[in-house]
Amino acid sequence: MLPEQKLVDLIKKIYSRVDTNIGYPVCQYPNIAGFGEWYAKTGLCDIAINNVGNPFDDEQFILNSTAIEKEVIESFAPLYGVPKGKEWGFVTNSGTDGNMHGIYFGAKKLQKETGMLPIVYISKEAHYSASRICDVQNLETRMIDFDKNGSMDVEDLRKNLVPSRPALIVVAIGSTFMGAVDNLQEINKVLEEVKPVGVYKHVDGALIGGYLPFTKYKDLVNMEKQGFDSIAISGHKFFGVDEPSGLFISTKEVIEAQTAAKVEYLNNDMPLISCSRNGLTPLKFYWIMKYVGFDNLKKEAEALLENTEYLQKRFDELNYPAWHMKYSNTVFFKRPAEWIRKKYALANGFIPFYGGELSHIVVMQHVKKNIIDEFIDDLIKSLEESK
Ligand SMILES: *Cc1c(COP(=O)(O)O)cnc(C)c1O
Repeated sequence: MLPEQKLVDLIKKIYSRVDTNIGYPVCQYPNIAGFGEWYAKTGLCDIAINNVGNPFDDEQFILNSTAIEKEVIESFAPLYGVPKGKEWGFVTNSGTDGNMHGIYFGAKKLQKETGMLPIVYISKEAHYSASRICDVQNLETRMIDFDKNGSMDVEDLRKNLVPSRPALIVVAIGSTFMGAVDNLQEINKVLEEVKPVGVYKHVDGALIGGYLPFTKYKDLVNMEKQGFDSIAISGHKFFGVDEPSGLFISTKEVIEAQTAAKVEYLNNDMPLISCSRNGLTPLKFYWIMKYVGFDNLKKEAEALLENTEYLQKRFDELNYPAWHMKYSNTVFFKRPAEWIRKKYALANGFIPFYGGELSHIVVMQHVKKNIIDEFIDDLIKSLEESK
């Protein structure tokens, strides 16, 4: 069947590494069992579907799945505390794509309201995509220190805030290395005291924003309770879509504050940066909603946090320096031997608060107790080798 030995070799390599790939937050066994078969059987695999424009605009273009895309946003939005009827959003190409639009929409909304572009405030522990996006959009950026918990240092934010300019805050709900959460209540307090001329808050919830709504920490990503304007979540992380994808969830107020590009051949309504979007991805989100369901996602979320505690416990039994934030599925620890880092594709970090050189494991759905035990056995072996 396969045209080339190279592809055969590639598949072998992928299979041999899938279970021990535990350093990065990809759900290695997607939540869309049966989708591939359905896709082939219906013949949909022989047709290109392409989504362009605003999925909440009823003027539909041909051969798309924007009606399902809209339904996906309407179904997920309540998980993030968006009042019914106020939700707006779309299925993105990735978490980065969601951040790109959050920062873009925020900057444009603030510019419309105040006549000025904002200064963007980002924690140094936030994912690099936020500052890269500001670079691309040529926005003035201030990188804010983080504290021992990996959260934005609100005193440093206070020092940096410029009241005469609108403020766009990128809120990390799940920072890259430590899995830390910026404290929105504290940030809100500082904003109320300093009173910048305009405020927009975009949440980067790419990883943990996926499972938090299904846990007792759900309020952390609740728009009404925390007062943010938009949130980006990756689809291939917790939700278990099999390709880079994501959700951008916001409100009609945000989209109505945009000046849509007047593109005649797209019915004059083009609020998004990118033109084409994958028309298949909304169907995969829909599949997850209907055939996995939010009840099962809740079980998956609980299992993640339970396995995270288990990994932490195994480290603690060895007296091996390791930490995690209580709402996070990322455990970071003293950097182990190189062969371990290679075998488990561990990601590295450098955090002076915790002794400098560290690595981390992200406990996704496939990181079950057997993999954790295998990892700990290897760690013990490596510690004995180095004696
Ligand atoms: C993964 C991640 C991103 C990037 O998302 P992609 O879907 O890989 O583009 C951004 N921020 C955080 C916190 C992440 O974990």
